[in-house]
Amino acid sequence: MIRENLEEVERKITAAAIKSGRSREDIKLIAVTKTHGADIMNEAIRLGVTDIGENKPQEVRDKFEHVLPAKWHLIGHLQTNKVKYVIDKVCLIHSVDSIKLMDEIERQAQKHNLVMDVLIQVNISGEETKSGIKKEELEDLLLHAGKLEHVKVKGLMTIAPKTDNSVTNILHFDNMRRLFIDIQQKKYDNVNMVYLSMGMSGDFETAIECGANMVRVGSAIFGERNYSQK
Ligand SMILES: *Cc1c(COP(=O)(O)O)cnc(C)c1O
Repeated sequence: MIRENLEEVERKITAAAIKSGRSREDIKLIAVTKTHGADIMNEAIRLGVTDIGENKPQEVRDKFEHVLPAKWHLIGHLQTNKVKYVIDKVCLIHSVDSIKLMDEIERQAQKHNLVMDVLIQVNISGEETKSGIKKEELEDLLLHAGKLEHVKVKGLMTIAPKTDNSVTNILHFDNMRRLFIDIQQKKYDNVNMVYLSMGMSGDFETAIECGANMVRVGSAIFGERNYSQK
């Protein structure tokens, strides 16, 4: 099941990459394993998955030592008091949305003598329910990053609204890409626009066609999640 799903996702990523003038190697697939146990995660890793994404810091902490070597990504909302669970385990935090969180990551990273790569999560649709910062608040955060030594800003992340209308999400994804290019051209200290993390099971092809180079795909690989087991 996972094998077939993964092959299908791979095919779609390749097609979307080619459609946008790139190749499969230009796109990083993050397999989102939230709610799934170590056995399923290890199966995916044996099938070639290199990068896994979790949305809860506790799940990273609890599953980390039971899973084969892989690159872990924290993709969900992160409270400052939970940074300590993930600081020495993940390679990239996708969900930085405040100066306070950035400062706590800096503090924990310094304590562990490491440098943490992060993405800034942007609420591009302006939906009240969505996490991430507003476009207007972005500059303060980018300027703040210039003062830090143990945090490096490597790009942007967004979660598009759930919708049946993919046209509006094309708009949001295009706006993200524009922002990504804008920021790169402005050359902020300690800010490098390398990764544009957008696209999930329902919209990763659209996101890639709009310029995403990191997609976070869960249910299309692992099937529907069963939250009642947790
Ligand atoms: C769960 C999750 C995903 C993956 O969602 P699917 O629709 O299952 O692909 C991607 N990004 C974030 C932040 C998530 O929490």
